[in-house]
Amino acid sequence: MTPSTLPRDERAQHSVSPSAACRLLLAGPPGAGKSTQGRALAERIDVPYLSTGELLRDEVRRETRIGHHAADYMDMGRLVPDWLMVYALESKLNDATQRGFVLDGYPRTVEQAERFQRSLGRFRLDRVIELAVPEDVAMARIATRHRTDDDAQVARTRFHTYRRETGPMLEYFAAAGLLATVDGSRSPEAVAMALSQLIDTQTRRTRSWT
Ligand code: AMP
Repeated sequence: MTPSTLPRDERAQHSVSPSAACRLLLAGPPGAGKSTQGRALAERIDVPYLSTGELLRDEVRRETRIGHHAADYMDMGRLVPDWLMVYALESKLNDATQRGFVLDGYPRTVEQAERFQRSLGRFRLDRVIELAVPEDVAMARIATRHRTDDDAQVARTRFHTYRRETGPMLEYFAAAGLLATVDGSRSPEAVAMALSQLIDTQTRRTRSWT
């Protein structure tokens, strides 16, 4: 079987670059568990964890100019403008993170993905993992959290923003052979195990090629 005839997950594993296989993007709708899983995964593979949502919330808390510009968009459940996102993130990706990172929440549109490749080419992503959860599961999880943009209506807007804006980006990465999808509706332990297996399989294949 050649990579192009394999199912999506398998295809992604075959196409991972053998030289550097830990620059990961974790995607998923609100309530998918990206933050919990992203943190644990980053710790497990010993790379920094970077969340653009957290980065922006921190800017809002510290009342910086970035935070001031971002707050209204975030409170409405909409994406902040690209120029702002890039400005906030680019200084965080530096030579220390070149060898690896778990990136949670950027890029999340096709435009951002293209810009990422253009201007941050040296941080080229090795794998994009989507934590997939249905809307009702995501909404039930969000109802137990206490963030200002977790209000039920705003959370629904964020979910639909994800489908509309991030859905096409996932197709874009699927076409590049980089996308793997993990069922995020299971228990945190089961999801963590699935992610670990995915990364271990990738690492084993990487080793056997070198
Ligand atoms: P998150 O914690 O990932 O759900 O992000 C919270 C909010 O931060 C989002 O609803 C957006 O308003 C903003 N945000 C985070 N990442 C991005 C991004 N890549 N592009 C635009 N806005 C973003």
